[in-house]
Amino acid sequence: MDLDTCSTIGYQQYNEDVFTLDKMEQKLEKSQFQTLMETLKQGRQLEFSVAGAVADAMMEWALERGATQYTHWFLPLTGATAEKRNSFLEIDKADRQPILSFSGKALIKGEADGSSFPSGGLRATFEARGYTTWDCTSPAFIKRDADGIGCLCIPTAFCTFDGRALDAKTPLLRSMEAIDRQALRVLRHLGDQRTQRVTPTVGGEQEYFLIDKKHFLRRKDLVYTGRTLFGAPPAKGQELSDQYYAATPLRVLKFMHELNETLWRMGVPCKTEHNEVAPSQYELAPLFESANLAVDHNQLTMEMMRRIADNNGLCCLLHEKPFDNVNGSGKHNNWSLSTDTGINLLKPGKNSEQNRSFLTFLIAVISAVDTYASALRMSCATIGNEYRLGGHEAPPQVISIFLGNALSEELNRFVSGCNVETHQKEVMNIGVSTMAELWRDDSDRNRTSPFAFTGNKFEFRMVGSSQSLGLPNTVLNTIVADSLMEIADRMDRGEAWHNVLAGMYRRHERVIFNGNNYAKEWLVEAKRRGLPIVDNTEDAVTSLASDENIALFSRHNVMQPQEILAQKEIALQNLVTASKIEAGTMLKITRQSILPACARYSDVLCDTVTKCMQANVPCEAQRAMLQKLNIELARCYQGAEALEKSLKSGTGVKESMLALRFSVDALECMVDKSVWPLPSYGEMLFSVV
Ligand code: ADP
Ligand code: MG
Repeated sequence: MDLDTCSTIGYQQYNEDVFTLDKMEQKLEKSQFQTLMETLKQGRQLEFSVAGAVADAMMEWALERGATQYTHWFLPLTGATAEKRNSFLEIDKADRQPILSFSGKALIKGEADGSSFPSGGLRATFEARGYTTWDCTSPAFIKRDADGIGCLCIPTAFCTFDGRALDAKTPLLRSMEAIDRQALRVLRHLGDQRTQRVTPTVGGEQEYFLIDKKHFLRRKDLVYTGRTLFGAPPAKGQELSDQYYAATPLRVLKFMHELNETLWRMGVPCKTEHNEVAPSQYELAPLFESANLAVDHNQLTMEMMRRIADNNGLCCLLHEKPFDNVNGSGKHNNWSLSTDTGINLLKPGKNSEQNRSFLTFLIAVISAVDTYASALRMSCATIGNEYRLGGHEAPPQVISIFLGNALSEELNRFVSGCNVETHQKEVMNIGVSTMAELWRDDSDRNRTSPFAFTGNKFEFRMVGSSQSLGLPNTVLNTIVADSLMEIADRMDRGEAWHNVLAGMYRRHERVIFNGNNYAKEWLVEAKRRGLPIVDNTEDAVTSLASDENIALFSRHNVMQPQEILAQKEIALQNLVTASKIEAGTMLKITRQSILPACARYSDVLCDTVTKCMQANVPCEAQRAMLQKLNIELARCYQGAEALEKSLKSGTGVKESMLALRFSVDALECMVDKSVWPLPSYGEMLFSVV
């Protein structure tokens, strides 16, 4: 059914606030539109004359839709989005009258005083200014404020004056070019002369929590750090598995409808929404798109989730582990490669020729993930993810691939069934031609794997819920480009296809693991196989700038050494700062809220005991309560002192935080609920029902 014929409010409006190519075509002269399309196709810079016409058309469209401002919208290395709004207002030089204007120059290039954005030292070496340049592969859109008035957002890349990347988008776009280049070389070797472009596709499933705003505001730990630093477990958690796919509360459904409607208007293709495993946890999955658009759209999704939750008296928590002892949130990054002729290169084919290509790209991914496991691990190394990964519901810190038994066996048959090209035909017949049917039968889903093949795409599950999808996809595209390059190089030198692929598979099959990734035995086995186990976030971040990674990213023109060092610096700095904020918040809450509340309650108990003694009635229970409370209170006080010391010396901060939390959570279970200063886990997790 056509969207126009759908009467449900909000749904006809898909793309309404997006300046799509269709709309551009309507507003531009034919020749101008053709030049624009050529530019897009070839990935060149837009000619100035055409840029002027596009800018005019864009402003006209924006004004028609009630937007009087525009902004270059970009993704600095803070993980969030950035914008600086300008109105279209100018004063005409000739008659000094106010006019509305938007030049080609203003469209293509913006200048931001970016001195407060993280630059990891890149700018100190060059200039204080940052520049934003239009990414014409991501269409402009209107973002509406609460009153419906909009701002035209122009997706841009953010860099230094000599073009060094200061954002998540620039390296991503470069990595998309790299994988396109190498994939085309491989396809030509496979006899495909038609494909002109290979694009990575991404669908990012977003998990999140929704809690009542009134509770959120009373939890300064959530406000400042995104996660609860204290909280005794509630009597009921997720043990009954009664949350997953359960009927969604009406209040949340209202939020979801509003979110869908808002995002649809902006061209974000939301598709699936459901309850997740933990209480008050939900998920949104979009239709997949080109990686670049998917990254932008996921960023918009997070922004709108926060805003719309707030409008509905809720708070959206995007942190990877907002609550201890219940599941954390991730962002499952579904990834594949698609050709401009409409073929998904990771979809098993119906005939041997298609499977030849499927196998090639599949083995390229396997080789890439094994060779650069630590780069992938690094791409998800954030402080929030540190609390989630390796927890009981999230993938562990060791990277492995799930293929399913059927596909693994098929690959083994492919590799060992034949060792020379003369048998190639046979291999195809006995082996891979039945793949499509086989994997379908093998429909077991392995939810524990960090990198799972799910039939026609890979699902990278390590990514944290709050992070930008930019870096994980930049890494994924680059490492696969690298193994495709190896295949193409070797075939250029005349090596036979089967030799190259079979050898590659044998070298890297150790990364395949179809079992339970949460089992302790897997870590032992992973060690035996020599797979890297990086369980320290700082080490993972530092590995970004390993010699191997610097060579990799430079080789494919994705990031230059200076850009890599800058990214590493920023990430390390973020870790230190975030940890300091957490410890500082903990100290403040303990000293200003917890200790005083406990002291007051101790006073109440003292009073009771004294009064009982005066009345000459037994008060053993009160005495025992008082004694226990005071012992724990002293421990808590000492815990705060110890944390302050750790914070000053910079050592043992994590351990001190853990000890202090333990003590505060024990106190929570002793103190009169009506005087406890923080909303409990039970209140936060079970009040939106
Ligand atoms: P599953 O239930 O197996 O995870 P779905 O079809 O529900 O699979 O898809 C889950 C996510 O994967 C969705 O966001 C979807 O858009 C995305 N996805 C599906 N196919 C692809 C693809 N070829 N490339 C990238 N993402 C994809
Ligand atoms: Mg999925």
